[in-house]
Amino acid sequence: MPSETGQGKNASEAFRVLVVDDSPSIRSRVVQKLETIGLHITEAGSGEEALALTLEHTFDLVVSDIEMDAITGVQLCRVFRGDPGMADIAFILLTAASETKTRFWGRNAGADAYLAKEDMDEKLLPAIEEIMAGRKPRLSMRPEVTGTPLERVSAVLDHHLFDVVVQSEVRRLMDYVHDRHEFSEKVLELAGEVVGCPYLVLQLLGPGGPTYTIRARGPWPEDTPTAGLAALGIPEKSIGATHTTVDSDPKYGTGPHVIGGRSYSCNIGVRDETLGTLQVFGGASVCTASDLRCLELIADALGILVKSLFLVEETQLLALTDGLTGLYNRRHASKRLEEEIARSRRNNTGLCVAMCDVDHFKAINDEYGHAAGDQVLQHIAKSLTEYVRRNDIVSRWGGEEFLVIFSEIKLAAARIVAERLRGRLATSAQGEEGPEHISVSIGLAMLRPGITADALIEQADQALYRAKARGRNRVEVAGEERRSRASIRALQPPAEAKHKQAGPK
Ligand code: GH3
Ligand code: MG
Ligand code: MG
Repeated sequence: MPSETGQGKNASEAFRVLVVDDSPSIRSRVVQKLETIGLHITEAGSGEEALALTLEHTFDLVVSDIEMDAITGVQLCRVFRGDPGMADIAFILLTAASETKTRFWGRNAGADAYLAKEDMDEKLLPAIEEIMAGRKPRLSMRPEVTGTPLERVSAVLDHHLFDVVVQSEVRRLMDYVHDRHEFSEKVLELAGEVVGCPYLVLQLLGPGGPTYTIRARGPWPEDTPTAGLAALGIPEKSIGATHTTVDSDPKYGTGPHVIGGRSYSCNIGVRDETLGTLQVFGGASVCTASDLRCLELIADALGILVKSLFLVEETQLLALTDGLTGLYNRRHASKRLEEEIARSRRNNTGLCVAMCDVDHFKAINDEYGHAAGDQVLQHIAKSLTEYVRRNDIVSRWGGEEFLVIFSEIKLAAARIVAERLRGRLATSAQGEEGPEHISVSIGLAMLRPGITADALIEQADQALYRAKARGRNRVEVAGEERRSRASIRALQPPAEAKHKQAGPK
């Protein structure tokens, strides 16, 4: 039988403490200690008895032994923490064991304090004072607390086991952090298994983002994708960075569907850094509180994985890009050129490359310094990137040489683009430190049947060489050297032209 001991002047207003220990002598030592500060005390000789008492009584604090038969102090603490009606009750675990593992397990049970019995005289009261500071006695136990002790322990264990399994499944996705697309698909596949909502959206920021992956389990309006995206809060400009998987599940209906509906969003992050969001849509009628809790659990566990994905992406990006300009480096541009040539031959579309070289760049360095030279290169990189189409590839080919790959283009159009690029760079404003004027010379070459990537580059290089030779700040096109010669001759006075014609026989 539990004994109740109200002490002090305001016993009815004092905190109510439940003291749980299977050893009567230790229990009374604890009680004596607590009585000195006038707490209202209830005793229990086992975890089962303690749980039975919580059905009828209100407590503000539990001081429990950790090692008891049947229900242990750790399990008892977990039941308190897992029960919405009791989760905020303060809990102190006492142990005689100095075993490392017991300490670890006790600390992880969610107790407010964990004390060795040998330190009790010295530490128990200060610990209570600290834990209870600012708290007020609870008025009554909340109605959610029901069930036999066994049912309650079993529910908590089941709950924890589920959480642990979900978390470990999330961690297994570590195998996919080398590939954003595959990783995103796997995340939504897993989330779809535990969360019963028709639309799931994973947004990832970072070096490869922002990207959106959608898993639609109801109807997805293929014909009006933008309306669908808008309903899911995805900006229209992100359409190219959005990937949708439709998995028709009759449970989520087949008829016209309101895609948006109520949504719930969980942040994915590490410490204060936001890395993305995991969102569900589809109305509260479909998503339960337990669905949302699972979503939160997954989002929490994802933080470290998404961070790893971003680190992998950053490393991949560093290997592909040039540090000064952020453009693709020569190695990657060569690889892309091979791919684009293959694609162009497959689809029978035109491809041109433009080799751009800064005019008298050495003089810029000499006059304004290397740092100013670097700024010129950054300026050119930015201008090139801004000017070309999204599918064109801009790269830093060498020191002050840039290669632009134009895909799906005819020579005439490429010539116009190259000419405009040249004009734009020649008139673009420079930083304060640098030269007032810069210019580039451009060699343009078109892919013709049977030529290799190296040969194409060589042709562009030769055209560039001609542009330099003909005075710089100009565009020359590979294969037009004869025409150029003829037009130069046309400009020359007849006598000289005659002399030239006679010359090289
Ligand atoms: P041209 O008009 O014939 O192209 O003459 P140029 O002076 O531009 O050509 P040259 O090849 O003689 O000089 C290129 C210079 O570019 C030499 C090199 O020091 C400089 N350079 C190469 N890479 C960088 C870089 O990353 N930063 C800076 N500031 N200068 C660089
Ligand atoms: Mg140069
Ligand atoms: Mg050069």
